[in-house]
Amino acid sequence: MQNDRLTVVVAAYNEADSLPLLHPRIAAALEGIEGLDARILYVDDGSRDATWPVLVAIAHRDPRVALLRLSRNFGKEAALTAGLDRITEGAALIIDADGQDPPELIATFVARWREGYDDVHGTRIARAGEGWAKRWTAHAFYRVIGRLSRTPIPADTGDFRLLSPRSLAALRQLRERHRFMKGLFGWVGYRCIAVPYEREARIAGGSKFDFWRLWNLALEGITSFSTAPLRLATYLGLATAAFAFLYGMWVIAKALLWGDRVAGWPTMMAVILFLGGVQLIALGLIGEYLGRLYEESKQRPLYLIDEWKPGGGAGPDHFA
Ligand code: UDP
Ligand code: MG
Repeated sequence: MQNDRLTVVVAAYNEADSLPLLHPRIAAALEGIEGLDARILYVDDGSRDATWPVLVAIAHRDPRVALLRLSRNFGKEAALTAGLDRITEGAALIIDADGQDPPELIATFVARWREGYDDVHGTRIARAGEGWAKRWTAHAFYRVIGRLSRTPIPADTGDFRLLSPRSLAALRQLRERHRFMKGLFGWVGYRCIAVPYEREARIAGGSKFDFWRLWNLALEGITSFSTAPLRLATYLGLATAAFAFLYGMWVIAKALLWGDRVAGWPTMMAVILFLGGVQLIALGLIGEYLGRLYEESKQRPLYLIDEWKPGGGAGPDHFA
């Protein structure tokens, strides 16, 4: 049988309560798929709770489970990268640790992959257990990045996806430090297909992404996949210069016709303050890009591994 090796990658940060509920669901979903040699790789992203002992206990009972522990919390994007980097054989399927991405859909993803698709991604048609603020900001973010970026980034699509071996190999070549995974997947391309699904509420615990983390992720996405904000400064400058020229003509004409009575302190203040603000914004934008350039230039590794337990599944191996 073709296409028979798959590794399910789960990044977990403080998920001790949800993992024992999630693992049986993933295991059951995998058992229902014919001719699949599956492994499950949990990446502990420097959790502070009992996630690691919980994972060790799961791996003890299930030989298909491999475990990776990072030296500290590097964030979801780095944790996923660490997991994907270990896989040398077969496809990978990324799923959240909190049960929001239903493992029962894995069979559908695998079926699409066997039909010849390289990037099978789940697209949310509903989000349970998330407030209107999160839904609205997520919606707005996907619209903005869709406009700004030339890389196709499908709307309402998270990291829940299956990557074929060649997609995985392509993704592995992208070693940038500032990793906006949704954009990197889109950059790879190949044959993509969306699987609509309803996003469920978390099975346990709370979201690890508060407003600031999401805001920073959004900035990451925009700066990683678009230089449009840099151009914004140019256009603002051009528009201001054109306006200033017209206004200057008017001031000169007025002085010639009616003489120059010194007045206009309020207008002057307004113009100075406005221009000062615009200049600071433009500097800030440049700074955002410069900071990222600085981080890239340091060439640090994307993550550090503390422990690696490849598990003991029978059959050919999946991992490096
Ligand atoms: N996660 C991670 N490292 C982090 C934050 C989150 O590995 O620093 C994992 C988390 O355990 C979960 C997934 O990323 O499996 C999504 O996180 P969460 O459910 O908190 O995000 P949300 O679904 O609310 O966007
Ligand atoms: Mg979640």
